[in-house]
Amino acid sequence: MTEKRIQLLPEHVANQIAAGEVVQRPASVVKELMENAIDAGSDLIQLIVKEGGKTLIQVTDNGSGIPEEQVELAFQRHATSKIRQAEDLFQIQSKGFRGEALASIAAIAHVELQTRQAQDETGLRVRIEGGTLKEKEACASQVGSSFSVKQLFYNIPARRNFLKSDAVELRHITEEFQRIALAHPEVAFRFYSNGNVLFDLPPGNLKLRLVHVLGAKTKEKLVPVEEETDVVNLSGFILKPDYAKKSRGEQYFFVNNRFVKSPYLHHAVMAAYEGLLPANFYPGYFLFLEVDPARLDVNIHPTKTEVKFEDEQTLYAILRSAIKHSLGQFQVAPTLDFNRDPNLDTPYEYESKNPEKPLLQVDSSFNPFKDSSPRPARVSKEQIEATTEVYESGFSSLLIEEEPETTENRLFEEEPDYVEGMSCFQWKRKYLLVDSPKGLLAVDQSRAHQRVIYETFLGSMTVQAAASQQLLFPLELHFSKKQMMALTEIEDSLKALGFDFAIGEDQVLSVHGIPSLLPEGRIPHLIEQLIADYEEGMSAGEWTQAELLARTLCRSVSIRSGDVLEKEAQQALLSEWLACKETLLSPFHKLIYIRISEGDIHKKLN
Ligand code: ADP
Ligand code: MG
Repeated sequence: MTEKRIQLLPEHVANQIAAGEVVQRPASVVKELMENAIDAGSDLIQLIVKEGGKTLIQVTDNGSGIPEEQVELAFQRHATSKIRQAEDLFQIQSKGFRGEALASIAAIAHVELQTRQAQDETGLRVRIEGGTLKEKEACASQVGSSFSVKQLFYNIPARRNFLKSDAVELRHITEEFQRIALAHPEVAFRFYSNGNVLFDLPPGNLKLRLVHVLGAKTKEKLVPVEEETDVVNLSGFILKPDYAKKSRGEQYFFVNNRFVKSPYLHHAVMAAYEGLLPANFYPGYFLFLEVDPARLDVNIHPTKTEVKFEDEQTLYAILRSAIKHSLGQFQVAPTLDFNRDPNLDTPYEYESKNPEKPLLQVDSSFNPFKDSSPRPARVSKEQIEATTEVYESGFSSLLIEEEPETTENRLFEEEPDYVEGMSCFQWKRKYLLVDSPKGLLAVDQSRAHQRVIYETFLGSMTVQAAASQQLLFPLELHFSKKQMMALTEIEDSLKALGFDFAIGEDQVLSVHGIPSLLPEGRIPHLIEQLIADYEEGMSAGEWTQAELLARTLCRSVSIRSGDVLEKEAQQALLSEWLACKETLLSPFHKLIYIRISEGDIHKKLN
C-alpha cells in the first residue's frame, strides 16, 4: 500500500487537472485561443478546424505577437501579461486574466505556436506535447501568432471518448465563434471547417455583423436599442416581436464586450416584451452593456460566462424600460418599404391567422382521429397553464390522497385491463374515465396521445417510411448557419418521418412535403423546435436522435388538456394507446393513467 503522505502535485499533473476545468471540449479551446487573439489587438482572426476540432484547431491572428523570451512562459500556469496584482481584477479590460488557458491546453494536446512581433525580423516556432517543450527554433513568420492544437485529449482517453460526433462538436465551436464574432464587429473573422469556408466576416458595425452571421433576412427584423445612464451604457438590437421563436438561441448579452449569460437580465427583456408575445416564445436580442469593471465580478465562474453586477436591480429597470421604449417606437413607426413582397416577410405563424385575434381559442370541435383540420396555431395562456398544472400536480394528488403513486411501484403492475367498447367519458376535458374490470381507469388524454404519436413517429424513423403529403406551394424557410448544421445532421431522420426538403444556398430550406400527421401552418415553428430540442438534447446526451425528434413532434401534435374529445375519438384514443409498446409512461416519463379500485373507493367511504 502506498504511503498517504501529503505531497505537492507535479506541475504537469496540476496542469492536467486545471485543464479539466478550462477545456471541456474543442469549443473551449477555440474560445480561449480566439479571446487571446482579441486581447492581442488583432483585426483579422482566422479559425481552422478539422473533424469538429478533434484533430485540429488552428487560430491565426495579426496581433502583437509574443516576445521571444516570453514564449515558454506563456505556457506556464498563472502566467499572464494581463494583470499584475489582485486589485487589477476589478479593472479588467481584457478577456483573459487567469493565465491558465495555454498551460491547460498544452497539458492535454499537441500544441504548435508560431509568432512574431512587428519589430522582429524572424519569428519563433515552438512545439509542446503534453506540457513538455519538444522543439524551439527561429522561423519565417507573419506578424502575429498562430496556435495549432492537435490531438486534443490524446493523453486522457476518457475525455476523448466522451466527445460527441464531429457535427455536434462543430456546432459548439460555431456557437463560441459567433459569440466572439458578434462581440467584435470591428474585427474581421474567417472560419474554415474541413477545408470549407463557414464564415467570412468583413469588419464593420454590429448591424452588418448580425446580417453576416444570422442571414440576410435579419436586417428587417432589427430594432435598435440605445440608452446612456450613469450605471450602464446600453446599445444593440432586439428583434421585432413577430420574429420571436419558440426556441432559445438568439439571446445574447455582452457585458464589456464579453458574452455572458444572465437569467436575471433575460427576465428584464422578457418583461419588456410582456403582452407582445404568446406564451413560450422568446424574443431575439443582441445587447451590449458597458459598465464600470469595478462594479462587476466576472470571476465567479471558471469559464466566465456568468457575471455578478453590483447594481443588478437598477440594470434590470434600465434594460426593461429602454427595450419597452424601443418597442414602442417601432410600433408607432413601422418601417415602410414598398418594394417588399409582403408574402415573403410575413412570419408564417401569422399567415393562417386572423390578425385581430392574436390568441386563438381552443377549437373544441377538433378531433385528431377524424379529420385533418389544423389544430389552433396557438393556444391561450390559460390553456397552457392548465396543461402545466396537470403535469405538475400529477394524478396521485388529485385522486388518491393517502398513498401517492410512484413510478417505481407501478412498473410491475399488469397492463391496464380496458376492453374495447367499455363505457368511458371525458372528465374536465383532461381525463378519460374508463370502466374496467379491476377498477376505474383515469387516463390522461394528452399523455396517452403523446405516447401514441411518439411510437408512431419512432416507428417511421426506424422501421418504415412515414406517409408524406406534398405541398402545393413549397415553403421557403430561412435559418441561421448553426441551425442549418443541425438540420444537416438530422436530415435523414426528418426524411424518414415524411419531410421532403432541399437545403439550398443562403441558408434557405425549401420544404416540398411534410408528414401527413402534421398541419402545414405549424411546420416553420415545428422545424425550429426540432432543431432547438435536438441541439439541447444531444448536448445532454440522454436520447438518441430518433427519440429526440419523436419527442418534439409528439409534444406539438398531440391532443392537449382542454381539448374536447367526441365519443369515437375517446374510443379511438384508448385503443391506440393500449396498442402501444409502453402504456404506463408518457415519452416524458409521466404516468399516463391510474387505476382506482373498488377497494379504494370503499376505504374512502368508511
Ligand atoms: P491569459 O489570457 O489569462 O493571460 P493565457 O494562458 O490564455 O492566459 O495566455 C498567457 C499569455 O500569453 C497572455 O497573457 C499573453 O501575454 C500571451 N498570449 C497568448 N496568446 C496570445 C496571442 N494570440 N497573441 C499575443 N500574446 C498572446
Ligand atoms: Mg487567455
